[in-house]
Amino acid sequence: MNGQPPGLAGLIATFVGQAVSYFGVVGLVWLLVWKVFAARLAARKVPVPRPSDRAQLVHEVKYSLVTLGFGTLGVVIVTWMSEHGYARLSSNLSDFSLPQIGLTFVGLLLLNDVWFYGWHRLLHTPWAFKHIHSVHHRSVEVSPFSSYSFHPIEGFILGGWIYPVALVVPIYLPMLAALQVVGLSNNVMAHLGYELFPKWLVRVPGLRWINSATFHSMHHTRVNGNYGLMLRVWDRLLGTEVPGYDEVFVTRGEKRQPELEASSSQLSPGTTS
Ligand SMILES: [Zn+2]
Ligand SMILES: [Zn+2]
Repeated sequence: MNGQPPGLAGLIATFVGQAVSYFGVVGLVWLLVWKVFAARLAARKVPVPRPSDRAQLVHEVKYSLVTLGFGTLGVVIVTWMSEHGYARLSSNLSDFSLPQIGLTFVGLLLLNDVWFYGWHRLLHTPWAFKHIHSVHHRSVEVSPFSSYSFHPIEGFILGGWIYPVALVVPIYLPMLAALQVVGLSNNVMAHLGYELFPKWLVRVPGLRWINSATFHSMHHTRVNGNYGLMLRVWDRLLGTEVPGYDEVFVTRGEKRQPELEASSSQLSPGTTS
């Protein structure tokens, strides 16, 4: 934080910088996985009841730009909080100990994941789904371009954990950037549409609680269940995991999944924006 108000030129530069970075990363991942190596990865394609089309891609790009706009607004809010003494942010490494940075990093990752799970459950209540979350569920077959395709209210809510946290938790600024990188990487992985994790992942204690492309794809095809984004733990603890996830994870694109074929009939009629 430099203590200067960002100004219109600063806001535009922040937005353009975020958009170029986001679409650069997402576009490159999509090009590699969905085009260059698609044939080689065919057995890893997560089965879906119906494929995406150009209209879905246009929808995803449009709403991703809206989400990035709200990301710019978030930068403005955090900058304002910092300048007025409401946010305990610092770019001085000497203000922190390394264990403090490590513990805060892990704690905020977990908090972010719980925040996402809780709000995601609320967004699946009938009114919120119809008016807000259906924008994201327009994508049944997900691709990296689905990662930031959110209604503006949802985009603001999902990134909103930072405001109460910044009020009370001392945060090293580069750590905040690292959290954003981890969050985006996980989001793109969850919306990859291809399962790149090895099959043994779901047999290893500890590692089996990590989320996967299969796990989140099943959320988009089944609509109800598998609400977590980084960890399966919250779905397991609260009984919202879609049954049969482990089986779909290990069989992936090798055969069509009857449950996924049947699931298209479960989609809400309100899944277009
Ligand atoms: Zn959802
Ligand atoms: Zn999603």
